Amino acid sequence: GKLTADEHDSRGGERVSPGAGHVGIGALFPYLRPHLKVLGAVSALSVATAAGLLAQPMLIRSVLDGLHAGAAVGGLLLALVLLLLMSGAASAVRDYLLHRTGEGVVLSVRKQLAARMLRLPMPEYDRRRTGDLLARLSSDSTLLRSVVTGGLMELLSGVVVLVGAVALMLLLDPLLFAVTVLGLAGAVGAVAVAQRIQGASTAAQEKLGEMTSATERAISGIRTVRAARAEERETREINRCAHGAYRAGLRIARLRALVGPLMTSAVQVASLVVLGVGGSRVAAGAMSVGDLVAFVALLFMMMMPILQAVGAYADLQTGLGALRRIEEVLSLAEETAGDRRSGPVPVAAARAAPAGQPVGQPAAVEFDGVTFGYDAADPVLREVAFRVPPGSRCALVGPSGGGKSTTLALIERFYDVDRGAVRVDGVDVRDLSRADLRGRIGYVEQDAPVLAGSIRENLLIATPEADDADLMAALRAAQLTELVERSPAGLDAPVGESGVLLSGGQRQRLALARTLLTGAPILLLDEPTSNLDARSEHALRRALDAVAEHRTLLIVAHRLATVVDADQIVVFDNGKVVAAGGHDELTRSSSLYHELAAHQLLVR
Ligand code: ADP
Repeated sequence: GKLTADEHDSRGGERVSPGAGHVGIGALFPYLRPHLKVLGAVSALSVATAAGLLAQPMLIRSVLDGLHAGAAVGGLLLALVLLLLMSGAASAVRDYLLHRTGEGVVLSVRKQLAARMLRLPMPEYDRRRTGDLLARLSSDSTLLRSVVTGGLMELLSGVVVLVGAVALMLLLDPLLFAVTVLGLAGAVGAVAVAQRIQGASTAAQEKLGEMTSATERAISGIRTVRAARAEERETREINRCAHGAYRAGLRIARLRALVGPLMTSAVQVASLVVLGVGGSRVAAGAMSVGDLVAFVALLFMMMMPILQAVGAYADLQTGLGALRRIEEVLSLAEETAGDRRSGPVPVAAARAAPAGQPVGQPAAVEFDGVTFGYDAADPVLREVAFRVPPGSRCALVGPSGGGKSTTLALIERFYDVDRGAVRVDGVDVRDLSRADLRGRIGYVEQDAPVLAGSIRENLLIATPEADDADLMAALRAAQLTELVERSPAGLDAPVGESGVLLSGGQRQRLALARTLLTGAPILLLDEPTSNLDARSEHALRRALDAVAEHRTLLIVAHRLATVVDADQIVVFDNGKVVAAGGHDELTRSSSLYHELAAHQLLVR
């Protein structure tokens, strides 16, 4: 049997190292590029809001000094109120635009991730945990939103307010400003702390990915888990990952908690100093009361955006941590078109075949000295050679782990051989594009998955253009008409999450029907090891008889009943072809085959 990616990983398969590489803010740019216009508007609004904020203390100063001098201040007060209203409106528009951009970035990242995740080369799936990929698509991408909505723009308006406040403070009293700067020295420490949040955040997301993986595994195998009464064990495993995320979260919380007070106390120290020094300068007549009030107001005004900016910086680091995980997937190469020749190779294009008839001539399949290993150092197929003539039926048999499923995978080019060649009609499959090759092959995997949805949806995956007559013909050929006749919904009858409403045999035949619709002249079928009752088995055999005409069939068979009438039986043992021939011949000549047959009471 084949192994799933998850099983592999839990045996210590390669993992992505958590701390690799630090992502800079520049990495965000490609995602923001499509939104530059809106972000420009947002920046303008941010600057306007910040300017409005900065104008307030200056207006208050004029009001105070005006009152002191006995002048009329009604106009100034009105201006102040208008300013407040406009700032509010500008900030509302800005927030909406910003969130819209954030959602836009998340959407485009998700689209890119989804497209890439379905197009990776096969070994990538063997190596990775499904749940970890899921976490990147759902949760990491969400974190990226807060970078845009919170992080970036808060930083921008923070900087504007900061620069403006500094300029105004310099204007009001340069000496007092110099004193303030000394008081603010502690702020530097806060920024240094905020920087460390990126690493902690990547670790937190990593743990989240592990948790999703563990949960996904336990729930998709819930029947096994229940039957083994392993709920508690599996829950513990999920909890362990959750605790990992919790600890990483605490580290982030500690860092964030440090940042705020470091910043606040820096500002508080600065304001005490300012009040002391400023007070004595007012007393000495070097500055007006309005100046000092405005100065202190500016100082506090500075504090808010700086605090926000430091928080935003923390968000930014969190988001960049997530971006690193997203980029890690996006940087993976897709499975290539895969033909070594430059020009297109003419192949009979697969299309919906009316009445389930194959399109094009059946093809020969040939293995020529094929050596292959999932891990190059450890071949699972060695010097495998056999030839399946066009239109004939070939069964692959032998003890499990012998390399039968792997052989089918090589014909589909899920993997490429290490040595030797797989040929279809005499052409090395590496000279065909994967799409053309796969268009000529129908593949029914061992535990053929049924996707959620109706029978119709399940059938139309490869051939969306097929009509109802085609679907019925395919179902008939696959001995599956009982499925639609039984239900009043017919083709629209639901088949349930991962096909629980269907028996194992029905699932297999549904996959077969789906395959027949493509009209592919080569059919690869990995017989289920279990789940087949005698009637299903009989139905499958009749279905295969019906479709065998005009098709080349390779079947990984566990039941010799399936193989006795095959044109050729290839016996695999431990990665090698140990015998090949017809049933009667093999019963005499191959001790391994004899043994297999004897176990199934076919020979004595
Ligand atoms: P069979 O179909 O005869 O039972 P397989 O082709 O499934 O044998 O497996 C042959 C060998 O390759 C086994 O040792 C199996 O553990 C290994 N193997 C199968 N699938 C993978 C995979 N995706 N990654 C790594 N090793 C695999």
